[in-house]
Amino acid sequence: MLKTPAITLKSRKWGEADRIVTFYTVRFGKLRGVARGARRMKSRFGSALEPFVHCDLNLFEKHNDPLYRITQADIRETFPRLREDLAAMSGAARMVNLVAAVTAEGDPAPRIFQTLLGGLRWLQDGGDPALTALLFQLKLLGQTGFRPQTDHCAACGATFPDLRRDGVARFLPASGGLVCATCASRHSDRCLSLSPGSLAFIQQALRMTASVANRLKATGRVRAELEAAVESYVTIVAGKRLPPVDFLAAERREPAYGVGTFS
Ligand SMILES: [Zn+2]
Repeated sequence: MLKTPAITLKSRKWGEADRIVTFYTVRFGKLRGVARGARRMKSRFGSALEPFVHCDLNLFEKHNDPLYRITQADIRETFPRLREDLAAMSGAARMVNLVAAVTAEGDPAPRIFQTLLGGLRWLQDGGDPALTALLFQLKLLGQTGFRPQTDHCAACGATFPDLRRDGVARFLPASGGLVCATCASRHSDRCLSLSPGSLAFIQQALRMTASVANRLKATGRVRAELEAAVESYVTIVAGKRLPPVDFLAAERREPAYGVGTFS
């Protein structure tokens, strides 16, 4: 019998009454397990297998089977705001989707677990969902070997005398970082501009611990640039477009755009 703290990433129906659940765990990294009878009315799992729940898992491994058998899940934290507030829910969904997309099964990294737990707690405590998701994504990319390259050209390796030509850096998602003016001109249709404020934000977010980074704020142009850059880079890293962050909140905001916003 194995035990580990875990966070539910996703779950799907399996057979008559079971669920296959994907977790990120402290001891085993990402894992998938079968929870027998989880869909019965009086399941012993209760709501412990719902998305975003932080629980203690009891499970065992079957020989020659990649699926663990989950025997018990005891809730530690449920994060109710992530079920009640659509924007918070979409921010949390982006976090677990990214963890699911960029981690391998059976490759434990307790730091990733702590980053995810910290992000969910920050959302639960009222953090701005889109900004929290943005910071989380930068942090997670840094912890999974996809740290955006900001020290030298991500395409040719040149050091950066001309990085801030016109005061704007050029980010090439396909190369995973900033590129020099020469490489940028070669890929101009795929480069995104980052103003000095956006670049400073990224560098600080990557350097700071998660709890301190949550104090960073981004608005207006910086926010828009960061969201575009992280979105394109995450799509490259994950190998697919993840469901958008805050899409419901974005729909609600749209009608106001033509009425009160002039610039
Ligand atoms: Zn270059």
